[in-house]
Amino acid sequence: MTETGTSPPVTPALFLSQVDRSYPQTGGSLDILKKADFAIWPGELVALVAPSGTGKSTLLHVAGLLEHPDAGEVFIGGVATAKLDDSARTRLRRTEIGFVYQFHHLLPEFSALENVVMPQLIRGLGKAEAAKRAADLLGFLGLGERLRNRPGELSGGEQQRVALARAVANAPRLLLADEPTGNLDPGTSKHVFKTLLSLVRASGLAALIATHNLELAAQMDRRVTIKGGQVVTMD
Ligand code: ADP
Ligand code: MG
Repeated sequence: MTETGTSPPVTPALFLSQVDRSYPQTGGSLDILKKADFAIWPGELVALVAPSGTGKSTLLHVAGLLEHPDAGEVFIGGVATAKLDDSARTRLRRTEIGFVYQFHHLLPEFSALENVVMPQLIRGLGKAEAAKRAADLLGFLGLGERLRNRPGELSGGEQQRVALARAVANAPRLLLADEPTGNLDPGTSKHVFKTLLSLVRASGLAALIATHNLELAAQMDRRVTIKGGQVVTMD
């Protein structure tokens, strides 16, 4: 799963090319992204650090095919998405992209295991195979003893690790996380982040993580921010 060859991978997991995104507001428009270019390569963990209201969520939504850019192109694993219809976008999102939000959004009436099985069934995998992968993933994230528990019976950190397992259940090539540890205390944040890091390292996944936590950002491969509508290196 990890890159073992000597030559670098040729296809970025995510490539934003000349992306514009603005919102209408009274007296004009609020320009969030202006001809923004940005790429993430397989196996790369990138922190997106910018003040609130700068456009982190907007960038993640555009990258995750949840919002259309006004102009420009979003490539997922080399596939151009601007001209795809909604069902093709949904399919691509389901197979290639995993999301984690600040709040876990797990289904409360289902167990941890079932929450991770579900997206795999939606994708068309058999029940036994999906359950095996879910148990493996949750075990890897340190939740082997919590498979049958419902979200309400789990701690905040455990809930976020289940959300993480769910996000990568279909082995996406890109993980997008919007302040995934924003709701957690510092110690728990650190732990969740550590599992996220080991997951990315073990899978060759590319990840873009919006965070306000500079200590966590410092442990990622690169840090970017949004400035003047551009995605720029932070350091
Ligand atoms: P961040 O995630 O960095 O806090 P957002 O991407 O959520 O920033 O928002 C960037 C800016 O765009 C904010 O000023 C926000 O109010 C505005 N915005 C976000 N979504 C919409 C929308 N659907 N309509 C109008 N303005 C929006
Ligand atoms: Mg946001």
